[in-house]
Amino acid sequence: MNETATLRARAEIDLAALRANVRALRARAAGAQLMAVVKSDAYGHGAVPCARAALEAGATWLGTATPQEALALRAAGLGGRVMCWLWTPGGPWREAIEAGIDVSVSGMWALREAVDAAAAAGTAARVQLKADTGLGRNGCQPADWPELVSAARAAEESGTVRITGLWSHFACADEPGHPSIVSQLEVFRDLVAYAEKAGARPEVRHIANSPATLTVPDSHFDLVRTGIAVYGISPSPELGTPADFGLRPVMTLAASVALVKRVPEGHGISYGHHYTTPAETTLGLVPVGYADGIPRHASGRGPVLVGGRRRTVAGRVAMDQFVVDLAGDELEPGAEALLFGPGDRGEPSAEDWAVAADTIAYEIVTRIGPRVPRVHLNQ
Ligand SMILES: *Cc1c(COP(=O)(O)O)cnc(C)c1O
Repeated sequence: MNETATLRARAEIDLAALRANVRALRARAAGAQLMAVVKSDAYGHGAVPCARAALEAGATWLGTATPQEALALRAAGLGGRVMCWLWTPGGPWREAIEAGIDVSVSGMWALREAVDAAAAAGTAARVQLKADTGLGRNGCQPADWPELVSAARAAEESGTVRITGLWSHFACADEPGHPSIVSQLEVFRDLVAYAEKAGARPEVRHIANSPATLTVPDSHFDLVRTGIAVYGISPSPELGTPADFGLRPVMTLAASVALVKRVPEGHGISYGHHYTTPAETTLGLVPVGYADGIPRHASGRGPVLVGGRRRTVAGRVAMDQFVVDLAGDELEPGAEALLFGPGDRGEPSAEDWAVAADTIAYEIVTRIGPRVPRVHLNQ
């Protein structure tokens, strides 16, 4: 028995699958560079090992939301281009600039802080200007773009800034044919043309996330920013399964059954007694709960493979555990419960859990908590 089998619960991370996913995505966006988005601890998969594996497979950029996440990659010794885009006033601009991290700027306040930090550091900041082409979230509004571009160009002329990128983000790329996709592309082309006419010479222009990388070739430009697809999960079941895109899920969530016991008919199960045994049966106790990221919304619905068969969460998911009705099967304590994985052994997928919890698979993998060790395989 391998050592990891004795753990209460574990998330196995198949880095060979991750590398293969990166190669498949590079083939799909052959004219562009690939950024592996490793924000939020690589969507719960472990940022540093995943970032390293992505670079090995040919990703040339790493992307994070926060500057702290980007700095942690550098602190772990990772090279390549690193970009982060979620800044708040007073952020670690100087540290990021000194670490050669590309910083995203969506407004004048951020450009001013970047310029001041660059002056203090005595190094030009690598700045990427972000446009809101219709997402309605972060990014500079088209009406404010001339002011931002002109201030960034002035800073470039004075040597405190280098405009390394022009970029934006889609609202509805996971809904094929959504009219906002072409309209955002049109606005993006206009805003890029405006900045280039003003003298910007960006290294990269980019707008594509995973769904756009997979389904909108016109959106690839110089760089695609893929997150969820790197982890082998389809951005949306409407677009296709992971296998349809040549992708393989990277995370397998497993637990060791903590108790098996026989109970009579009519026994209420877990808090609130929302499940009652329909007949005499056996129960299996799965020692993970909502504190580990198992959604309580999947109470009575979440699927799990135990003893070679698909079972369903019986009653409520509690903080640390839930119960499955084993329908009379007698299993040994320590039997493996597979909550989700690539499906080779008949286990459910993260997408199945997303359906059970009325959410998206992004949330299922990202929410797995720190109490669940990540075990990186095929390093
Ligand atoms: C998270 C994120 C991505 C990656 O999105 P996926 O759909 O996971 O590929 C790309 N760009 C930005 C700005 C993001 O925040």
